[in-house]
Amino acid sequence: MNSIKKIAEDFYKISGDSNVYLYTKPLPMVIDTSAPEAKAHIKEQIESIIPLERIELLLLTHLHYDHCGNAELFSNAKIYASSEELEDFKKTPEYFFFGKVPKEINESIKKANPFPKKIQDLEVLEVPGHTKGSIALLDKKRKLLFSGDTLFQNGIGRTDFPNSVPEKMDDSLQKLLNLVKEDGYELMPGHDY
Ligand SMILES: [Zn+2]
Repeated sequence: MNSIKKIAEDFYKISGDSNVYLYTKPLPMVIDTSAPEAKAHIKEQIESIIPLERIELLLLTHLHYDHCGNAELFSNAKIYASSEELEDFKKTPEYFFFGKVPKEINESIKKANPFPKKIQDLEVLEVPGHTKGSIALLDKKRKLLFSGDTLFQNGIGRTDFPNSVPEKMDDSLQKLLNLVKEDGYELMPGHDY
């Protein structure tokens, strides 16, 4: 399960506790960081391709511990999450970490910026449901859809967390399913299940 997959010349998928995606061009960029338990693995895998300090952008689909858990590894990256997610994290960090947030991660998230509508070549889609501020990212050039924990290959994300909004999940899923089924986007999910 723990492996690195080269999908294109400048694009990789790293499987750990959850999936991490790495673009090396035009700007070195990472999408999600997996869980703190996978830190050594994630660090080693990314460093086999590019030094961590060269990563300039870190995009987070949402702030659950298994997606932002190693944010502090990317010390030179500008970090982005949705404004809803950043607000919620400030109010109730325990909903995202199911316990105490490690200090270094708290510091990284404190420095994070709210997503613009578009970042690099990626379009940002709001997909509330799994969490209130969950987003998906659309790479129109390569036809890739980064769905976070909203949509998986064989299922969907949980909506029974205290910061979930189950009543919004159907609309969000519809949006993503249309992109996959009608527009031919390839799913790049947060987990492989
Ligand atoms: Zn999640």
